[in-house]
Amino acid sequence: MPPSRVGSRRSMQQDRTRTILSIAGGTCICLGLAWTFCYLYFGRGDLSLVFVGLIAVGIFALHRVPRSDATSLLIVANGIFLVVCVIALIDAPVAWVPRSAHLFLLPLAAGAASTFEARQRYGSLFFPLACLAMFSAFAIGALDPLAPGVSPPLEVRAWGARLNTAFSMALLVLIFAIYRNDIGRRLRLERELARAVRKGEFEVHYQPQLLGNGAITGAEALVRWRHPSGTLLSPDAFIPVAEDSALICDLGLEVLRQGCETLNEWSRAPATRGLKLAVNVSPVQLLDEEFLAAASALIRASGINHGLLELELTESALSADPALLASRMIAFERMGVTWALDDFGTGYSSLSTLRALPVRKLKIDRRFVDEAVKQESARRLLGKIVEISHVMGMDALAEGVETVEQRDLLVGLGCTHFQGYLFARPMTSAAFRQWLAEYRPSQQMADALEEATG
Ligand code: C2E
Ligand code: CA
Ligand code: CA
Repeated sequence: MPPSRVGSRRSMQQDRTRTILSIAGGTCICLGLAWTFCYLYFGRGDLSLVFVGLIAVGIFALHRVPRSDATSLLIVANGIFLVVCVIALIDAPVAWVPRSAHLFLLPLAAGAASTFEARQRYGSLFFPLACLAMFSAFAIGALDPLAPGVSPPLEVRAWGARLNTAFSMALLVLIFAIYRNDIGRRLRLERELARAVRKGEFEVHYQPQLLGNGAITGAEALVRWRHPSGTLLSPDAFIPVAEDSALICDLGLEVLRQGCETLNEWSRAPATRGLKLAVNVSPVQLLDEEFLAAASALIRASGINHGLLELELTESALSADPALLASRMIAFERMGVTWALDDFGTGYSSLSTLRALPVRKLKIDRRFVDEAVKQESARRLLGKIVEISHVMGMDALAEGVETVEQRDLLVGLGCTHFQGYLFARPMTSAAFRQWLAEYRPSQQMADALEEATG
């Protein structure tokens, strides 16, 4: 069976972050250059340094465009905030020229409020409020006594005020336009998703999980959306929207239903009988009042061996409502279903929270695996994570193993379970069965384990 094509559409959140970083970077560099030269021309090299700071923030923003993550955006937003506040302080009103630099705090507040997700409270709430507070303080001249009292000639300042006003308002309009467009796209996607759930356009693919000696222990169920256009969309393109609109509950139950069907199929063939299946559970699902009853009814009715079903919850979910999440996880555990903590190392959960949860397996995030082969400090950290899992009586599974070097390093660090493109990519249920029939654990794998364990 040919490998299925997974759509390369990246999440809308990342698209928006990329656009905002590009606009912010370009704007900071253009304005920074213009004002640096202006101040240098008028012999104020000292003041031009602030604008060099603005250029530096702009360069950093453009440098982070390929990553387009929330951390980059937060650093850039704080950098711009600091520089704009210093400039607005210098830009104290003189004679008939008003202050104008503080106007940039408005698009900054709007940009942050519309870009950061609601759960990122600092970026989506506190930062925009800080921008508006500083804007108000500058507007009423509350900080004017601190102004250094230096400026280029009045005519230049007057032109600057017009330019700053036009530019900051244009930015504000642009941010609102992006926001509107984004809301439109989101609503369309939500409507399409609701239809897709009704029409059963979701299919589950399976990625093998294995032990250090190459023995297959099971697979992770990863959902894909077979869009009517023929494209197979990756979960990153629709899970965040499904989570925001609560459609994730129906979608998650559908994945669980297909997963249980697969487990039943597997139980009928000797080659697949004992394999475990890991199903991702979104924190939105687990916190939903009806999920526990609906999912446990589905699991019971399916007739599967409950011990072969593993549910995965991402570590970052634990910040939401750990007590409630723990009680729901325990309810599933009482049915015989086990839990794995996904993306471990990215969610800052405390070890005491972890101890209170019925977690049997830690899934070490791909980033740790990736960095461990490049940096000694990352390698030591990875070793400690594996050690923590052992101390807590849990299995450690390394995700995203792509190279032999990564696998050998992990084996050497005591990691026992593996998943990644090195072994196999996610595939349809039929392709998984065929892959399993042809699979031979490599001798290299068994040797690596033997060598590591002496
Ligand atoms: P995840 O649970 O961390 O799943 C692992 C992701 O890493 C999968 O991406 C998988 O295809 C990919 N992957 C596996 N091995 C490698 C590797 O060696 N290298 C690289 N670069 N990537 C690797 P996928 O299938 O696109 O899923 C993305 C995320 O979507 C999942 O991350 C999970 O958080 C979410 N997801 C997938 N299916 C479901 C689902 O049924 N329900 C929920 N709530 N979320 C799901
Ligand atoms: Ca997972
Ligand atoms: Ca993961």
